[in-house]
Amino acid sequence: MDTPLDPASTSAYEDVRTAPCRALATEAVHAGREDLARQGLHAPPIDLSTTYPSYDSRAEAARIDAFAADGAELDGPPVYGRLGNPTVARFETALARLEGSESAVAFASGMAALSAVLLVRSALGLRHVVAVRPLYGCSDHLLTAGLLGSEVTWTDPAGIADALRPDTGLVMVETPANPTLAEVDLRAVAHACGSVPLLADNTFATPVLQRPAEQGARLVLHSATKYLGGHGDVMAGVVACDEELAGRLRQVRFATGGVLHPLAGYLLLRGLSTLPVRVRAASATAAELAARLAADPRVARVHYPRIGGAMVAFEVHGDPHAVIGAVRLITPAVSLGSVDTLIQHPASISHRIVDAEDRRGAGVSDRLLRMSVGLEDVDDLWSDLDRALGRGRAETPDVKGLHEALN
Ligand SMILES: *Cc1c(COP(=O)(O)O)cnc(C)c1O
Repeated sequence: MDTPLDPASTSAYEDVRTAPCRALATEAVHAGREDLARQGLHAPPIDLSTTYPSYDSRAEAARIDAFAADGAELDGPPVYGRLGNPTVARFETALARLEGSESAVAFASGMAALSAVLLVRSALGLRHVVAVRPLYGCSDHLLTAGLLGSEVTWTDPAGIADALRPDTGLVMVETPANPTLAEVDLRAVAHACGSVPLLADNTFATPVLQRPAEQGARLVLHSATKYLGGHGDVMAGVVACDEELAGRLRQVRFATGGVLHPLAGYLLLRGLSTLPVRVRAASATAAELAARLAADPRVARVHYPRIGGAMVAFEVHGDPHAVIGAVRLITPAVSLGSVDTLIQHPASISHRIVDAEDRRGAGVSDRLLRMSVGLEDVDDLWSDLDRALGRGRAETPDVKGLHEALN
């Protein structure tokens, strides 16, 4: 029998490299768990260690030297919690399998993941970023404000090739984009990038609907806080990429400390197991709601992606704030990808930090509402929306008066 103390026999990756290609639904429940049965386990263990016994310090020195050289995942126990964690590694293994990439590196949030990518590129002197609007509000802010010393050129997909410079380290797109659900042709964009790595934020589509690595994106970013976790109770980010970039990302994660907590790693691995089912069910409801909204005279415009998905954006003729204030089943809240339905006003919340002119220029109108459709019954959701839209069309009630009326 294998002894669980032998790191080679307990590695979560060992079988993954040799496993035959399996369907997404199968990977979702098995990837990152290949070693469990042999260990006599069914649920993955949560390793909360911040440090590990190192009886052979000469061997540890050699392992640390190897990590400093290429950032490869350490064989055996991680030495210290900032270098790696076995529970988090299971999630990374599983996400890499779902995205069809060689590796994945998890972070404390989506923004920590994006920051690490920018630092990896600017450390090589490649500080220039070419990006397509809209992006998630804080990603836009991070680039526009140059908080990490990067410099951004905003362009449309057709302008990418012309915007590249010798010091361009990254091209960044979101598709479908937050919050307008605008789509870009990833294959065409990847071609325009030439040798510059393309980062595609795949938070909205998830690997269930789209695998950007297959279309030429070298980096696939997720706010795992959204669909991957899927229940609104864990914050995380992850980058799926080739092992060369993953090594640099692990080195930056080690040096800057934006690590994912092991409990979050556990919840994310559990979230992945239902990802295909959740995304498909919520997408079917979202498509139906998008159709009903498109047929509604109170709605000026509906945005729903060609590839589908569980996000719907729409512009109302009336007051968007009144709709937000009137929903009862749907929660008026930022974020997305949970089992319950959320709605928010991007110009006030998720994209408030983007300069108003830039925001409107990116198609984020002041009348736009963004809805993340959950797993509730479609007719229950529609009656809530229908009633809330009625409020939106009526005279704008002041919010205080509305609260009093409802209490
Ligand atoms: C939420 C979000 C982010 C940021 O992720 P956090 O986990 O909140 O840091 C990045 N990109 C997109 C598309 C998002 O929706």
